[in-house]
Amino acid sequence: THILRLLLGDQLNPEHSWFAAQDEGVVYVLMEVRQETDYVLHHAQKILAIFAAMRDLARHLREAGHRVRYVAIDDASNRQSIPANLAALMAHYGAQTLQYQHPDEWRLDEQLCTWGAEQTFAVQAISSEHFYTTRTEMAEVFQGRKQWLMEHFYRRMRQRHSVLIDEAGEPEGGQWNYDHDNRKPWPGTPALPPDARPTHDHSALWATIQAAGVQSFGHPQAHALRWPLNRAEALAWLDHFITTTLPDFGAYEDAMSTKSSRLFHSLLSFALNTKMLRPHEVVQRAQAAYHAGTAPLPAVEGFVRQILGWREYVRGIYWAHMPGYDERNALGHSTPLPDWFWTGKTRMRCMQHAVGQSLEHAYAHHIQRLMVIGNFALLAGLDPAAVHRWYLGVYIDAFEWVEVPNTVGMSQFADGGLLATKPYVSSAAYIDRMSDYCSGCHYDKKQKVGVRACPYNALYWDFFARNEGTLGSNFRLGMVYRQLQKMQGPQLDALREHAASLRTRLDAL
Ligand code: FAD
Repeated sequence: THILRLLLGDQLNPEHSWFAAQDEGVVYVLMEVRQETDYVLHHAQKILAIFAAMRDLARHLREAGHRVRYVAIDDASNRQSIPANLAALMAHYGAQTLQYQHPDEWRLDEQLCTWGAEQTFAVQAISSEHFYTTRTEMAEVFQGRKQWLMEHFYRRMRQRHSVLIDEAGEPEGGQWNYDHDNRKPWPGTPALPPDARPTHDHSALWATIQAAGVQSFGHPQAHALRWPLNRAEALAWLDHFITTTLPDFGAYEDAMSTKSSRLFHSLLSFALNTKMLRPHEVVQRAQAAYHAGTAPLPAVEGFVRQILGWREYVRGIYWAHMPGYDERNALGHSTPLPDWFWTGKTRMRCMQHAVGQSLEHAYAHHIQRLMVIGNFALLAGLDPAAVHRWYLGVYIDAFEWVEVPNTVGMSQFADGGLLATKPYVSSAAYIDRMSDYCSGCHYDKKQKVGVRACPYNALYWDFFARNEGTLGSNFRLGMVYRQLQKMQGPQLDALREHAASLRTRLDAL
């Protein structure tokens, strides 16, 4: 053996150029380690799905004629750390070179770089061949600017990759953005698409994970795990999404409903983030649906923007601002998470649903993450680092490079407005407009103070009053602060008093 090649749990692309040829001198190494199960408390499904998908890839590679060493969580020789296992395996195989694909998390990148530099054998890092952009490209686009506008980056990406660009070089349909056609509440029609994802029984693997002592939270769904676990399954699911669901994606992108945990969202983030699918092929499939006339432009543009725009953009933010970005706390928030983040047991019906389905399915769609859970966390002044750890643990698709900018930046405004031009917060009115959560809730969406008042209302005004020093000069918040000005006096005092009392008893909401 000459070369050992490491594959991390989110590097599950069987079409990487590494696998183009078989080579007896190359051993591929995959490992299930406590280092990776324990850096944050993870949702049970996240651990189970990643291990199951790693095992699937190992099987696939062996069948394709590659040499594979799979270190299972309960192997006696498992040292439970990536460097310790690598050192032992390099010696075992007498290998001269270790190769790995660039990790997407700063934590792992740093660990492998530091450790690699101390070794006597050659250590080489190569591309994972996944993203449109390099790690540092976006920092170059925005060099010297205070604010890094997504829209600016996104238009460049559309042009550069010729996505939804017409023959004259203009954006398809004449507009870059179709948000005003999207963002509708869902009235119960059109009918929800069927959930055609595969169903896996991984109860034996789950028993192994538990016997190894790995801690987790949330429902493992071990008998009926619904996530695609290899490229073939991911491609079939992508196909299903494009043909049945994409046409309605745009219109109901921001809608929320007690009747569906996904509405018309794609559930593709796990397959994308583990690299079973490449973003290019997902974008191409969506674009082709528009050209074939099977999906309208606003839906396709809205979907493409999430992947070609947001996904690459947050990655650029992450690499430009790590280390340290994950610890930012521009508003000085420090309240611990209420217990019901771990149980879903709150009387706020929106939170009950959004947190509840997160625990049950390791999934919530974007607007639930942003405008229900994140909104509440920001209004209530929860510690952004604790909020970040919760998001990093709970979602099936959560890996730091994408989770941190979304949580710390977009959702908690803890980067002081680098990523978002204003805080994403709202009172009950927005949640009520976009969902069916408020009807039947213990709290009254219309009341601002009193025992039955929806907590979002008083917390909303208190948030702006309390942060006037930092946010008062933000030109996008002019209207809010003018309104606040008019409320000065007994009205605002009562709101702030109620908010203060809510903030001392978050656990009991
Ligand atoms: P769809 O709505 O169908 O979107 C299609 C794809 O676009 C997604 O699969 C995803 O790859 C991409 N995408 C959409 N929005 C974003 C975004 N804001 N940033 C990056 N990519 C995006 N996404 C993650 O992949 N991992 C995370 O850990 C994560 N944490 C988040 C935390 C918070 C507080 C918020 C507000 C958002 C977070 N997101 C995260 C972004 C987004 O909510 C998820 O990508 C999306 O809900 C995944 O579900 P889906 O595949 O059904 O997405």
